[in-house]
Amino acid sequence: MGERIVIMGGGIIGLSCAFELRSRGHQVTVLEISSCGGQASGAAAGMLAPFSENVEGPDDFFRLCAQSLRLYPAFTDRVKQVSDLPFEYTESGSMYIAYHDADILALEGRLRWQREHGSSGSLLQGEEVFRLEPKLSGKVRAALYTPEESHLYAPHYVKALEHACRLMGVHIHEHLEQVAIKDWQSSVVLEAADLSVFEGDRLVVCSGAWAQQLEAAFGIRIPVYPIRGQICAYETEEKPVHHMVFCNQGYLVAKENNTLVCGASEDVAGFETTVTEKGIERLRKWNKQAFPFLETWTPFHKWAGLRPSTQDGFPLLGALAQSGRVVMGVGHYRNGILLSPVTAQLVADSVEGKKMPDFMQAFVPERFS
Ligand SMILES: Cc1cc2nc3c(=O)[nH]c(=O)nc-3n(C[C@H](O)[C@H](O)[C@H](O)COP(=O)(O)OP(=O)(O)OC[C@H]3O[C@@H](n4cnc5c(N)ncnc54)[C@H](O)[C@@H]3O)c2cc1C
Repeated sequence: MGERIVIMGGGIIGLSCAFELRSRGHQVTVLEISSCGGQASGAAAGMLAPFSENVEGPDDFFRLCAQSLRLYPAFTDRVKQVSDLPFEYTESGSMYIAYHDADILALEGRLRWQREHGSSGSLLQGEEVFRLEPKLSGKVRAALYTPEESHLYAPHYVKALEHACRLMGVHIHEHLEQVAIKDWQSSVVLEAADLSVFEGDRLVVCSGAWAQQLEAAFGIRIPVYPIRGQICAYETEEKPVHHMVFCNQGYLVAKENNTLVCGASEDVAGFETTVTEKGIERLRKWNKQAFPFLETWTPFHKWAGLRPSTQDGFPLLGALAQSGRVVMGVGHYRNGILLSPVTAQLVADSVEGKKMPDFMQAFVPERFS
């Protein structure tokens, strides 16, 4: 029969944990205050880019990201098989562009350590750059090409994941408005705004940027803060860009649905998800610099989401030391789409009391307390 698991939050992290736990035979209930995928997960650009996102060096966070990228094809295959819903998953590779000699040196350094950690990347210079991306500005001097990186269409993927969970028998309750923890020590009891009560053996916390609200309930510090990402998309007739293109200001990625997505700002704006003219104008400025054809284009769609950032930039993962009944899966900041398969696996292992890998020490939930 497995255990009764209650999951707080129906974003990509909560749904991936639900999918994994249900696949392992547990009875799973997902509680969502609004709608599944309605927050950061539905707003994301969907890039699976551990090499482009980690530029400093191979730390524990990079290892977590790289492991998740390796799990992605098999995990999404399982979701596709169960849900039978289509979603884009494109193994496009990526290019991290540089305009100046000093930046090329940095790319060379990055390439050296990344090749030792699973990248078959290369540094492209001069004409090699334009052979892969003919529409890039002539001012681009070089690009770090990483064939392993891929992307998916996050809104469709989250829908497929939710559908797969429902088909497998996960109980999903949406629009609960409020979910409060009534007990987590002797058993797990949660109560929604309409006073409906949900009971379980274990609680998995996946409430994204809202996780800090649980500090009082658990008596530990949970320094998770919302960082708004403003993002926009241009309508295209054919794919004008073939790879994910990164620079130190942001990224551009073309989707199968004839859109060119360009992201994203990083603003401290509380829980505000409005889009500002200034935020989008800043994106447009560097877009045009990278791809001059965008000079005359105007985004047809603009939106924003709240990334769950943490004080040290690392997520909070694993069981609370005070009580193995509670397992955390929050604070994935810029990489929650990428990190969803590995989080699901580690959370499920933690629920089942399996030994955590040594690198999980870096993500211990109580490390701020
Ligand atoms: C513009 C933008 C672009 C991004 N691009 C990428 C990208 O390309 N690649 C990548 O890997 N990541 C990307 N990210 C980051 C990624 O979207 C997040 O890291 C990820 O979605 C976090 O997932 P989550 O499930 O933790 O949070 P969310 O998707 O925010 O889900 C949390 C859910 O919990 C619910 N909730 C809150 N409190 C409670 C409660 N008390 N009870 C029940 N439910 C509750 C919320 O309503 C919400 O639905 C991007 C983010 C943004 C904003």
